[in-house]
Amino acid sequence: MNDWILVGTASLKKQNQQESTIAPLEVKVKVTHVMISNFDSLVYGGTIKADYPVTVGRFAIGIVTEVGNDCYGISVGNRVYFQPAKGCGNCFACKSGKHSRCSDVKIAGKNFNGYLRDFVVCDYHDVTVLPDSVDDFHALCIEYVALAEKIYDRLNLSAGQRVAVFGGRFLGNIIAQVLQYHKIIPLLIDNNEKNLKRASEVGVSYALRADDDLYANVNEATCGQLCDGAVYNTSSKISPSVCTAILANEKDMVLGGFSNVSFSINAQDIIEKQLSVYGISNGYGYIDTAINMLLHGAVNLAPFEKHVLSDFDPKQILADKFATASSPNYPGMTIFKMIL
Ligand SMILES: [Zn+2]
Repeated sequence: MNDWILVGTASLKKQNQQESTIAPLEVKVKVTHVMISNFDSLVYGGTIKADYPVTVGRFAIGIVTEVGNDCYGISVGNRVYFQPAKGCGNCFACKSGKHSRCSDVKIAGKNFNGYLRDFVVCDYHDVTVLPDSVDDFHALCIEYVALAEKIYDRLNLSAGQRVAVFGGRFLGNIIAQVLQYHKIIPLLIDNNEKNLKRASEVGVSYALRADDDLYANVNEATCGQLCDGAVYNTSSKISPSVCTAILANEKDMVLGGFSNVSFSINAQDIIEKQLSVYGISNGYGYIDTAINMLLHGAVNLAPFEKHVLSDFDPKQILADKFATASSPNYPGMTIFKMIL
């Protein structure tokens, strides 16, 4: 049984996992699929700092193999989603039972052990039983949908409003789809042809290039009103100043993404237009909502290539992903199928 542990920057070690017994409130789960994301590669490469040593892997699903005596609503054989983020348990919000408002959310594969290992023994509240109709690919993207939903919630929009989404690789595309699900009209803005084409394939009406005509195109799409909100994907290569330029006065801009890439923003538009700027970096608190949305077909993953690998070298794949993390081309979903 294997456990892939990151002990330092670009230093991943395969360790033998010990057999462990479970407590009454715990379950034992065989990990079946782990999706390797840009987030994991940035942790591997040291761009995102981790609490070493830590097992890598933020997004994973598995099958329950043992259930503690005091667990409720979960059985052996259930397919489950592992929590990608948890409340810290120490802040004021956590101590007053308002976990979803935790001020120091902990992330799997960064602050606590992730899921690139054969078995996970954990509190049964740390897994969510998956409905049969949510397939493995969609299940692995639950936190993407949860983050998108958290952004939608933060923007406080009404049906028919127009929102710019900057960056349409994978997360940006999902954000645009979630906005459409809520009857918001997304304007997906990117300079990569494939990303624009994929946006059209999932029904996004406005897939625009960030070129000299952008301002005029946004004006036309919004009947001269400019955008009612904007989401700037933190992996976007477009200047955030373009984002503030196409927002109407007194609107909100969300900086959203799993990777905390550093960049600067020109404050002039923010001050003059009296904009509000928020950051959102996880889907904590929105996992159940996201599963429900997937049940209702809110997100179409058909245009994205999927690479399911049952024979893989995690070091090589994390290193390759790290090297191409800032590329505008999305290489497709990379999924490890975990076979004992
Ligand atoms: Zn907390």
